[in-house]
Amino acid sequence: MFEKILIANRGEIALRVQRACRELGIRTVAVHSEVDKEAKYVKLADESVCIGPAPSNLSYLNIPAVISAAEVTDAQAIHPGYGFLSENADFAERVEQSGFVFIGPRAETIRLMGDKVSAKDAMKNAGIPCVPGSDGALPEDSSEIIKIAKKVGYPVIIKAAGGGGGRGMRVVHTEAALINAVTMTKAEAQAAFGNPMVYMEKFLETPRHIEIQVLADQHGNAVYLGDRDCSMQRRHQKIIEEAPAPLLNPRLRAKIGERCAEACRKIRYRGAGTFEFLYENGEFYFIEMNTRLQVEHTVTEMITGLDLVQQQIFVAQGEKLKFRQRDIELRGHAVECRINAEDPYNFVPSPGRITTLHMPGGPGVRIDTHAYSGYTVPSNYDSMIGKLITYGATRDQAIARMRIALSEMLVDGIKTNIPLHADLMADAAFHQGGTSIHYLEQKLGMGHK
Ligand code: ADP
Repeated sequence: MFEKILIANRGEIALRVQRACRELGIRTVAVHSEVDKEAKYVKLADESVCIGPAPSNLSYLNIPAVISAAEVTDAQAIHPGYGFLSENADFAERVEQSGFVFIGPRAETIRLMGDKVSAKDAMKNAGIPCVPGSDGALPEDSSEIIKIAKKVGYPVIIKAAGGGGGRGMRVVHTEAALINAVTMTKAEAQAAFGNPMVYMEKFLETPRHIEIQVLADQHGNAVYLGDRDCSMQRRHQKIIEEAPAPLLNPRLRAKIGERCAEACRKIRYRGAGTFEFLYENGEFYFIEMNTRLQVEHTVTEMITGLDLVQQQIFVAQGEKLKFRQRDIELRGHAVECRINAEDPYNFVPSPGRITTLHMPGGPGVRIDTHAYSGYTVPSNYDSMIGKLITYGATRDQAIARMRIALSEMLVDGIKTNIPLHADLMADAAFHQGGTSIHYLEQKLGMGHK
């Protein structure tokens, strides 16, 4: 059993991981930047180490600083949270080479899945259906690229192999625009991800984003923990997630879930992970795998009754999964709203001091946040300040509870997207369920890029 875990992250997820550890009697080390020194999770941790100034490349992305913090505090394992170093294969490798356990998959798996071209290839071989597109990376030759696009059929989407966070993608509707779009995406990909490789997919017009949560131990056992619908997105970034995906045939869910679990066994996956799919006309198309805990893991926790962070820790300790697929029962429905410090309609970030914060409550309401009255949201990081999750016996009940919770929640001093969430909870199409990934931008009158 680990006695001490270092949490290489900040914000709500640092607190979330810390709570899971404390429940298991594991001591925690918080690492933080100078601007986060007063943060709640830093104060609550057993120990804390300042790893650098506010900019994340000097602190939360500073691999030697994180590893030294683990050394000086005698931590045995490192939990990377999400974002920052969580999908950095070099980091995972350095952690293990330095004698610590990385709470996540093996470095080689992270590397394989971090390159979307090699990930798709591996998944195709493991029997997972993928979005039709180029066979691997696009070649240099323009006439070849034009040929590929013709075969795939317009519209197509050009995607960076090293892309992430909704960046490095461009939709192309006509042959005339193709080569320029490829050139621009390549240049952007080189600048943002240090890798100019791009590939092509058919651009699906009205898909939903449905993903499968998996969990695998180091003894060849793997299960899927149901699915989540994350179709409510803006600029390819999720803002509302729910589990299970509404209107999805349970037989189809079981079929794709089982394939994902089988793929995990084939690639000897370790820990928690997510297979992301676009879903259109009853078909699933793999887009990528996230080799880490996700923001929206909470909705899966609500309907499975499992603590996913603790499950990650058990797997990292070398334990066997304590359940089989047939033991996993999905009960009720959960919805998560990401609460961001931003203008609800133009999305401009709104950092600053929260003067008053009132939290909602009542049956089926869960809040994961590090914010409090008097907390200053720094301008250096992601604008998400917390997650509001509601659970109900049915989807309607979960939504009703969300509506009430949003109306009770009060954040003064900064702008938040709570009004947008309130609008969406009253939206007829959302109530019906099954809206596509373009729905929100269409509703906001933004169209999609
Ligand atoms: P990232 O790693 O940046 O999150 P993904 O490959 O997961 O990139 O895609 C993010 C989002 O982009 C998807 O949820 C979807 O909204 C959109 N997208 C990606 N591929 C396609 C596609 N082939 N057709 C339509 N939309 C797509």
